[in-house]
Formats: sequence, structure tokens, C-alpha cells
Amino acid sequence: MTDRCIFCRITGGQDSAPVLYQDDQVVAIKDIAPQAPHHVLIIPRRHIPTILDLTEADNRLVGHVYQVAGNLARELGFSQEGFRVVVNCNRDGGQAVWHLHFHLLAGRRLNWPPG
Ligand code: 5GP
Ligand code: ZN
Repeated sequence: MTDRCIFCRITGGQDSAPVLYQDDQVVAIKDIAPQAPHHVLIIPRRHIPTILDLTEADNRLVGHVYQVAGNLARELGFSQEGFRVVVNCNRDGGQAVWHLHFHLLAGRRLNWPPG
């Protein structure tokens, strides 16, 4: 937990965000600048800066994130049409917040390859 990290502040309750789901490991919120009709951020509560900082001990956490993504896709009603789960890493990946988060995007046809 770092006071300066926006996602630590949101998962810790010091900053508000529209929460769609939360449990002891993750918080899922609506993105403030949505890139698709549905744009959810699934954020582990623990401050992990990037995907490069994951260790073997995080395997359950990462698996849990994907299960939450599937559950949200069903609950929000776009599981059949489809969706994408994306992690951006460092400069060329387009990462802007250095607290690991998984984008869940849906509601329109997503381009491939991504821009
Ligand atoms: P990144 O580029 O690091 O993969 O994604 C960061 C995402 O966090 C962006 O999509 C951005 O819109 C979102 N974001 C940044 N600050 C906030 C915030 O304070 N609240 C919410 N809900 N989303 C945020
Ligand atoms: Zn953080």
C-alpha cells in the first residue's frame, strides 16, 4: 500500500470509484476513461507494480482475476458476444498506472491486432 498510488487508494477506500465487484483479493471498478462501452479494471488489492513483478506465489491470484473476469462478463451480459482481457506493461505496452490491473473490455468489436 502506497499513499501515492491511485489504485492503492481506490482499493483501500481512500478514493472513490464505481465498484462492480470486490473480495479479499481484488476490486473491480469502472474505468474513468472507457475505451469501449464496457471497460472494467480488475485490480489486485496488493500493490504489484507490473506483470514483471509476479512470482509463483501469485499464481492463485492471477487465476482468480481471470475467474472474476468471466463472472463479470456473464453478469454484465456480454459473455456470448465476447470480450478482451488486457494487461499493459511499461512504456511500449502503454502502462500509465504502476499498480497491476487487468482491463476487461467489451460492447463493441475490438480491433486485432490492437493499435
Ligand atoms: P494502463 O494504461 O496503466 O494500463 O491503464 C490505466 C487505466 O486506469 C486507464 O484506462 C485509466 O483511464 C484508468 N484510470 C486512471 N486513473 C483512474 C481513476 O482514478 N479512476 C478510475 N476509475 N480509472 C482510472
Ligand atoms: Zn498500488
